[in-house]
Amino acid sequence: MTTLGILGGGQLGRMLALAAARLGIDVHVYCPDAASPAERVSAGATVATYDDEAALAAFAARVDAVTTEFENVPAATARFLAGRVPVHPSARALEIAQDRVTEKAFLNDIGIGTAPWRAVDTAADLTAAMGAIGPRGILKTRRLGYDGKGQARLDGPRDAADAITAMNGAPAILEGLAAFEREISVIAARGTDGTVRCYDPGENRHADGILRETVVPAAIDAATRDTALDIAGRIVSSLDYVGVIGVEMFAMADGALLVNEIAPRVHNTGHWTLEGCAVSQFEQHVRAVCGLPLGDPARHSDATMTNLIGGDVDTVPALMAEDGAALHLYGKGAARPGRKMGHVTRLTRREADG
Ligand code: AMP
Repeated sequence: MTTLGILGGGQLGRMLALAAARLGIDVHVYCPDAASPAERVSAGATVATYDDEAALAAFAARVDAVTTEFENVPAATARFLAGRVPVHPSARALEIAQDRVTEKAFLNDIGIGTAPWRAVDTAADLTAAMGAIGPRGILKTRRLGYDGKGQARLDGPRDAADAITAMNGAPAILEGLAAFEREISVIAARGTDGTVRCYDPGENRHADGILRETVVPAAIDAATRDTALDIAGRIVSSLDYVGVIGVEMFAMADGALLVNEIAPRVHNTGHWTLEGCAVSQFEQHVRAVCGLPLGDPARHSDATMTNLIGGDVDTVPALMAEDGAALHLYGKGAARPGRKMGHVTRLTRREADG
């Protein structure tokens, strides 16, 4: 019997644990919070901080492999565990994805385009960066930003002072505003033997920096789709990555694809694979990090996945009554604004590819 350790206890860990259970694999969750969504569906749990070496050593002794369900697990934690048990994704992959500057530099180094960017630590840096990139952009904290948090939009020099204040002294990055036609993402998986398998790109709609909806397939032509899969493949191979990764991209009017962000974990824009494919992103990730063969990522249906955010949970009774609605609830407490409480996926017949 294999036991998979998961660092982090949110909804992604919960859906990983459910997928692991289907393969006969037990999960042991390690999370600083008690009674987390993942813990409540897992065989075992450790409630401790990520720098508690005694708790980490005991955790490592109980599991056969370790993975992470959110990208801000300290790289030092992954490194400590890797001395005792296989850990995927690697500390290096976490480190690269945890810092927007390191991430963009890595992408550009392997020939992948991004929005133009500059590291910004001071107001003077921001003035210089706006001179180089142009006056319209987004200032983001380098670390720990997610769902649009730690970001300030700039429409011209007059917004600079407020944007610097919004960073609260944290090191930042200025990104030029990408005038994209659509946002897409590729969910890719790489196995321990180097096999890469990708799901079809989804098209993503955000509001207030939070993902609302993913529609599959994305409305892109076959050449753009191939380029998107190639980009994701180059990223996982360059990182010697094992597991599932989410690669968010901006599709530009001229056909170019710019990578916005890489998420070294299962990804919200891949939730549709639970119903749309024989092997979901969650099962694929469990297979990869446990050293098992990867499964078939082909989509058998088109799908629309809609997040239930905050008060959206009030629609649950209606969703339960809706034919064809595949509902997932994460077992979280209060429905605070912006909190992802669940999602619903609706399948439609697969149309011929364009
Ligand atoms: P992020 O936190 O970097 O994933 O950004 C959240 C959302 O903000 C993205 O999905 C885009 O909709 C938008 N966004 C982020 N960066 C840019 C950019 N450089 N240009 C245009 N839109 C952006």
